[in-house]
Amino acid sequence: MRIAVVGAGVSGLVAAWILQREHEVTLFEAGDRPGGHANTVEVEIAGRTHAVDVGFIVYNETTYPNFTEILRRLEIRTKPSDMSFGLRCDRTGIEWASPTLSAVFAQPRNLLRPAFRRMLGDALRFHREARELVAMDDEKATLGEWLCGRDYSREFVELYAIPMGAAIWSADPGGILDFPAVSFARFFANHGLLERPSPIQWRTIEGGSRCYVDAIAARLRGGIRLATPVDAVRRNAVGVELATRGGDIHAFDRVVLATHSDQSLAMLEDATPLERHVLSSVRYEENELVLHTDASILPRARRARASWNYRTPRERTERVAVTYDMNRLQGIRSAEPLLVTLNPDAAVDPARVLHRETVHHPIFDTTAMRAQRILAEREPRNHTHLCGAWTGYGFHEDGVRSALAVARAFRLEL
Ligand SMILES: Cc1cc2nc3c(=O)[nH]c(=O)nc-3n(C[C@H](O)[C@H](O)[C@H](O)COP(=O)(O)OP(=O)(O)OC[C@H]3O[C@@H](n4cnc5c(N)ncnc54)[C@H](O)[C@@H]3O)c2cc1C
Repeated sequence: MRIAVVGAGVSGLVAAWILQREHEVTLFEAGDRPGGHANTVEVEIAGRTHAVDVGFIVYNETTYPNFTEILRRLEIRTKPSDMSFGLRCDRTGIEWASPTLSAVFAQPRNLLRPAFRRMLGDALRFHREARELVAMDDEKATLGEWLCGRDYSREFVELYAIPMGAAIWSADPGGILDFPAVSFARFFANHGLLERPSPIQWRTIEGGSRCYVDAIAARLRGGIRLATPVDAVRRNAVGVELATRGGDIHAFDRVVLATHSDQSLAMLEDATPLERHVLSSVRYEENELVLHTDASILPRARRARASWNYRTPRERTERVAVTYDMNRLQGIRSAEPLLVTLNPDAAVDPARVLHRETVHHPIFDTTAMRAQRILAEREPRNHTHLCGAWTGYGFHEDGVRSALAVARAFRLEL
């Protein structure tokens, strides 16, 4: 069969790599590089060049079994990463970090703060009760309803639940309480966050995520048509027609849309009501991403600094503000700190900015989760396969899983 794959992020790359075993595959990519959210940039600090991941950074071998297998087959070198969480709350002045006790009490006065002690007590309670929630498997209650029903303190909500959720999903802090409670608890359970010490070792790719992207790209017989956005997809009785920018029309037997849900919907000229419903139910939010060397954005207390640093600004905002410490996450030694901040607003010195771009993250509210179930239960139709990390929890393993589901529809395995 002649198959078009649209989008060369992890989902499209893996789908194309497997499908080419038995089919003639053409991979179209709008950008001028493959990888999508797997994006490594090179920066020079004090005469040394560093490869910094400004998209996908970490995975683990427990909850990313398929991605781990792909890295093994490609013989990609990986190394342990340092995963820890820190909070700087500009509203209360409270700062804390995980996982050690000395980080939790990074500000010694936290011991005396009733608000902090309430947050901590409820965090320990949440770690017990979240397991019950996972076992109940109730998809209806939102996180806000569940926490309120169990009398969790405002401090736990503002200093723990919202910062953790917003940082994990790069989501609007104001929307976290609308997430399904069970998804929140499941993420904690699956990623070893309910156990101390966590049984999960996070890892990162030596030399940056581009190493695995380049390895797949090099194995694609048909190559990748870079800088070739697909503007329109039309289905007919025997297959599909793709219109690429510039007006060229290409005919295929099948198409795999490995783009974000909103991008896929925009391409489908003849979307069915069901496709329209599913694709419009998973919405995205825009985040500004900045790679910089300005450490003043981190928690003030050194012990409250972590690999993920969440900041609650004084004024309420709709955008998550989180800083990834790339020296810790990727084990990079550089003369100045290498930090990636989502939505720094005015907090980063422009003279210290090395790279900036706009990224989009899926919003996993209850509407999105319902649409995902509909998609999972339905056989692919109209010669069209929908694929992408948005069909799961939005992480790399979800992108790989969605590609494997497409492959199975063609009776192929990894
Ligand atoms: C800053 C950041 C950090 C992250 N960190 C992690 C992490 O550490 N671990 C983790 O598991 N996940 C992480 N993620 C989540 C990440 O989004 C997913 O893991 C995954 O990379 C998404 O893959 P995808 O293939 O679904 O989409 P994408 O990677 O977004 O790929 C979609 C591709 O489609 C292309 N495209 C769009 N429209 C068209 C068109 N019309 N024609 C042709 N091509 C088109 C795009 O250019 C893009 O290359 C992170 C995301 C971001 C933004």
